[in-house]
Amino acid sequence: MIDAERPDTPGLWRVFAVQYATRTALRSTHFHYPDNRGGEPHPTAYYVWLALSQTDTVLIDAGLAPSTAEGMQGLDYFGSPLEIIGGLGIAPGDIDLCVLTHLHYDHTGVVADLPRARYVVQRRELEYWNGPWATRIEQERWLHSRPDIDHVAASTRLDLVDGDRELLDGLSVHSVGGHTAGMQIVRVRTARGNIVLASDASHFYENIESDNPFAILHYLPDMFGAFDRIQELADGPDHIVPGHDPLVSERFRAVDRQPHVVSLG
Ligand SMILES: [Zn+2]
Ligand SMILES: [Zn+2]
Repeated sequence: MIDAERPDTPGLWRVFAVQYATRTALRSTHFHYPDNRGGEPHPTAYYVWLALSQTDTVLIDAGLAPSTAEGMQGLDYFGSPLEIIGGLGIAPGDIDLCVLTHLHYDHTGVVADLPRARYVVQRRELEYWNGPWATRIEQERWLHSRPDIDHVAASTRLDLVDGDRELLDGLSVHSVGGHTAGMQIVRVRTARGNIVLASDASHFYENIESDNPFAILHYLPDMFGAFDRIQELADGPDHIVPGHDPLVSERFRAVDRQPHVVSLG
């Protein structure tokens, strides 16, 4: 299991993007500001991310559960994110920490299958989904999974964060909002520098590179604030990892015998 070997140096991490699904879609559904190419196909990739230090195992986001994936039209589901991670020699019980970047249904799916992980969520995010507005705002309410959120909210392993925090040496969360009320991004120190897992703060490279937010959003000004924060925290443009871009799987080196896993650093 050479590829999932842990780094030699304390405070450094190895990070993997684990793609568990793909879905065909139209370009017009992916950008806030339309252009004349809206009718072109624009596939979406679905990821979770795994970070390994010498001593800690961190899962960033919890993907889609098989039962939810089954009912999604046009989705090509490769398998549960936990099954794919199992191919790297990591079992659900090995995961110490699960950072939930936000509580959309495609980021919380297998959270209840982690037997001992601490859940790291922004307080604002959880309060929003359990507050008075989420169920009344039609363009947002379909995006959450009530059982997943109830599981997280009731857990004795829940760790609510206000703003930015270094969770472990070399791994920190940063609140940005925008896409959701309490969206957070993750910075991880790797041998090639600090990378930023932007998750849905920038679905595609093109969102951040062309300053054109994704179409689904909670608060537009914070979408732009998030783009700036991602760029400040990453050591360079190739250290930014968008949340749903199939190009991530093409630009980074595939892990041996794991066709759906690439090494980010
Ligand atoms: Zn989202
Ligand atoms: Zn998403």
